Amino acid sequence: MRLILLAAPGAGKGTQAEKLSEHYGIPTISTGAILRKNIKEETELGKVAAQYINDGKLIPDDVMIQVMSDRLSHEDCKNGFILDGFPRTLAQAEALEKSTIEIDKVLMLNVADETIISRLSGRLECESCATTYHKEFRPPAEAGICDKCGGHLTVRDDDKPETVKARLETYHTQTEPLINYYKEKGLLRIAAGKEKIEDTTAEVIKALGE
Ligand code: ATP
Ligand code: MG
Repeated sequence: MRLILLAAPGAGKGTQAEKLSEHYGIPTISTGAILRKNIKEETELGKVAAQYINDGKLIPDDVMIQVMSDRLSHEDCKNGFILDGFPRTLAQAEALEKSTIEIDKVLMLNVADETIISRLSGRLECESCATTYHKEFRPPAEAGICDKCGGHLTVRDDDKPETVKARLETYHTQTEPLINYYKEKGLLRIAAGKEKIEDTTAEVIKALGE
């Protein structure tokens, strides 16, 4: 299955992508994880990304389109993939449409803005493997330590309150139009985000109809 996940920042898209990846045995391609890794390693892409990311702005379309067309051409994407964070603008969706990559379904995960703000303002992320936690809703077994790899948990720079607000605005203006775009193509499925991760996963799998 070649799936696009759409949702506001902090809606739990990354967590669901992980679950679906296990469920279907296909990789998740997370643009945020790719960009943060490049920032950490101070690559050319990382230097460009850093200029935008902490202001809650999007990386320019031509840069993202190039990064993703490279990534999706890797062998591990042959049997399907889950896209977490791409496309995020109409220009990116149109570039994907023009490419040779076929998309089977687009899943929109619906979560209210209030829920998003409370989730983002307690979020922790593993510095090593990028698994996310929440101080209150999804705490790690041992404070500050990743359950999966033992890495150190930190608060993302772009989870600061001012940046969260900018990211939500960016989402509403630039990404939300994709909902209609994919609805018109007949690819859109909608799932309601629930309080518990497993309940959301069940909704998502039901919405995907498999
Ligand atoms: P969440 O981590 O909950 O998914 P998010 O969707 O805002 O929240 P990421 O997907 O990790 O966060 O992305 C972080 C930042 O990376 C974005 O705010 C944006 O600056 C940049 N980014 C990620 N994907 C894209 C994209 N497709 N086009 C442009 N910029 C992007
Ligand atoms: Mg993400």
